[in-house]
Amino acid sequence: MTSSSHLDWPFLEPRHKALAIELERWAGRALSAELHDHSVRAVDDACRKLVRQLGEGGWLKYAIGGTAYGASADTIDTRAVCLIRETLARYSGLADFAFAMQGLGSGAISIFGSPEQKDRYLPCVAKGTAIAAFAISEPDAGSDVAALQCAARQDGDSYVINGEKTWISNGGIADFYLVFARTGEAAGAKGISAFIVDADARGLEIAERIEVMAPHPLARLVFQDCRVPAAQRLGDPGQGFKITMSTLDIFRSSVAAAALGFARCALHEALSRSTSRKMFGQQLADFQLTQAKLAKMATDIDSAALLTYRAAWLKDMGLPVTVEAAMAKMTATEIAQQAIDSAVQIFGALGVVSGETVERLYREIRPLRIYEGATEVQQLIIARGIIKMHQESERKRG
Ligand SMILES: Cc1cc2nc3c(=O)[nH]c(=O)nc-3n(C[C@H](O)[C@H](O)[C@H](O)COP(=O)(O)OP(=O)(O)OC[C@H]3O[C@@H](n4cnc5c(N)ncnc54)[C@H](O)[C@@H]3O)c2cc1C
Repeated sequence: MTSSSHLDWPFLEPRHKALAIELERWAGRALSAELHDHSVRAVDDACRKLVRQLGEGGWLKYAIGGTAYGASADTIDTRAVCLIRETLARYSGLADFAFAMQGLGSGAISIFGSPEQKDRYLPCVAKGTAIAAFAISEPDAGSDVAALQCAARQDGDSYVINGEKTWISNGGIADFYLVFARTGEAAGAKGISAFIVDADARGLEIAERIEVMAPHPLARLVFQDCRVPAAQRLGDPGQGFKITMSTLDIFRSSVAAAALGFARCALHEALSRSTSRKMFGQQLADFQLTQAKLAKMATDIDSAALLTYRAAWLKDMGLPVTVEAAMAKMTATEIAQQAIDSAVQIFGALGVVSGETVERLYREIRPLRIYEGATEVQQLIIARGIIKMHQESERKRG
């Protein structure tokens, strides 16, 4: 929105700019208007269609790592993932969701998978012929992930999983679930392992479909003596928490990017409406109170974009990113919520009409402040990180 496009910022390389421009063209052509039928079936169908479209368009190549398996690069290009999510989110929340879940659900396979696991799952994820899901949350373990109870007991050359997962995106339509279960190597976070569980595994049941304010496939899963071959365990026993954190180090910044996409869309809508709506003998945008809102939206969006692309760049450079990704996620999701609220206000009554873009954005943004670590969790990550850095530098000074 400012005179220099964020695509020209030094965090990004020419290939990123080219990617964003190409996706912009594709999204304008390929993505249809928002879904009006919010029934579970319609949402499932729309999501399946979007995954196929994104695969055919070649965009899911960026959701995985490993050129041998159909990826665009050997490691996931975090900046590309962010640019794709930001662009898709401006067009369709569901398209962004479909892309993001392919990445989040298979990211751990890209990073920690054996050659056999990669060969079996990643090419289908990249083509959009298999749908991925990430299952860690439980009714009594959300923010406190290390409290999870779902357990996997080794029995010969297989594991038997018992327990429950909830709020699982793509639950009901996924072809496989990345499931985190307690294997007991140690108490708490160090006793968790990750498993790839095919959707048709006996003992895995979609116990409930959950309808939410921004419709997308979501379910509660129950595992009852669900037997999976030991070869489906990802990484070493007890490595599950590390696998989660490594995956989130990539995808947390991308949640910030999606929020940016929603916020940019809201600013565009607010500018269009306020420069065309006449009142009191002038345009709504002529009033300084409106200008203050617009100025805050634009400035907040640029601040959040700087944090987002800094985090993505750090990750791509192989540098520590946990604190910076938390800053990006917290800031972008919070400012996006405020920017969208301002846009609704600028629209007046029209802003709360079902189907209006700003009304849809108002619903779409809300869950982003909760999933992949609520804002309060990001605050703790940031504070702990900076306190540790401070203590280390004090120690070094003597
Ligand atoms: C739309 C949607 C999609 C999701 N998709 C997935 C998925 O695909 N896979 C998956 O595994 N999970 C998924 N989740 C679950 C999500 O990760 C959890 O909702 C999230 O971790 C928060 O857990 P909780 O809902 O149990 O809230 P709780 O853990 O009960 O937390 C409630 C609130 O407490 C506050 N809080 C948390 N910690 C602290 C603290 N230390 N101090 C003060 N306040 C605190 C926060 O405001 C938080 O929102 C999804 C959630 C949503 C809403």
